[in-house]
Amino acid sequence: MYQFNYHKPTSVEEAQALFKAVEDGMFLAGGQTLIPTLKQRLAAPTDVIDLSGIAELSGIEVRDDRVSVGAFTRHADVADSAEIRRVLPVLSALAGQIGDGQVRNRGTLGGSVANSDPAADYPAAVVALGATVYTASRSISADDYFKDLFETALEPGEILSRIEFQCPTRAAYRKFPNPASRYATVGVLVADFSGDIRVGVTGAGPCAFRATALEEVLREQLSVEAVETVEVPDAGFNSDLHASAEYRAHLVKVMTKRAVADLLKA
Ligand SMILES: Cc1cc2nc3c(=O)[nH]c(=O)nc-3n(C[C@H](O)[C@H](O)[C@H](O)COP(=O)(O)OP(=O)(O)OC[C@H]3O[C@@H](n4cnc5c(N)ncnc54)[C@H](O)[C@@H]3O)c2cc1C
Repeated sequence: MYQFNYHKPTSVEEAQALFKAVEDGMFLAGGQTLIPTLKQRLAAPTDVIDLSGIAELSGIEVRDDRVSVGAFTRHADVADSAEIRRVLPVLSALAGQIGDGQVRNRGTLGGSVANSDPAADYPAAVVALGATVYTASRSISADDYFKDLFETALEPGEILSRIEFQCPTRAAYRKFPNPASRYATVGVLVADFSGDIRVGVTGAGPCAFRATALEEVLREQLSVEAVETVEVPDAGFNSDLHASAEYRAHLVKVMTKRAVADLLKA
């Protein structure tokens, strides 16, 4: 790890002002990605701006058919939230499958969605649940948020403040976890909004995306058999030591079938 200056602001405004004032700043949330990156000297910021002192970034609010989760809310708090379990159980179930207990006790929603690791779980929920990503100055719809590998619509220095998820009639998430880290080799969230189906996929491509061909077929007929009729091309999919692109395409179909089966049982 290289040396850096450490700051702990207490408001978003202060954090943003610090980011502007320093030479090369980085925000720190749960540190589950950033700290290993610093330790391996893959990043060398002059200043680390810790977001943990900003109370307004944490918390869960349920309003009508929407759930708003503050960026600094830990995965464990989403997994354990009675309120989220009541109105959006798929989100707490997904959060409960992230990594292990230590990772869930430190990692945050905002850190995960700002980082946009191609194998992270939350991005599947962001796209499938038609979420809105809020920063201090604007809102970004899920369909416009994920851009590419570790690339999002956030501008440098922009702080993700909260994410608002829509509650579907029913939904289910299935992932094929990496046996070591539990990251999603492929994860699929299928959500039914009174017949309007959204399918969010993570792990397969450089960033999370909606599987529109699957959505169209499932809108016609919400069944496991309907998924079988869809070809999932592997063009542009990730290929690494964990899984080939072809295998990931196969997993998209298998995870979608499992999610649809779960959803129909719900
Ligand atoms: C062993 C291990 C296993 C894991 N398994 C899984 C898994 O199964 N599924 C999964 O989804 N994830 C997994 N993770 C990732 C983890 O859950 C965290 O979500 C992830 O590391 C990022 O969240 P964080 O709060 O730790 O962010 P940090 O590491 O603190 O930050 C990550 C990046 O996001 C930026 N950032 C953080 N917060 C904000 C904000 N509010 N606004 C703007 N930028 C911000 C930081 O500057 C940094 O660039 C795993 C991690 C580890 C170490």
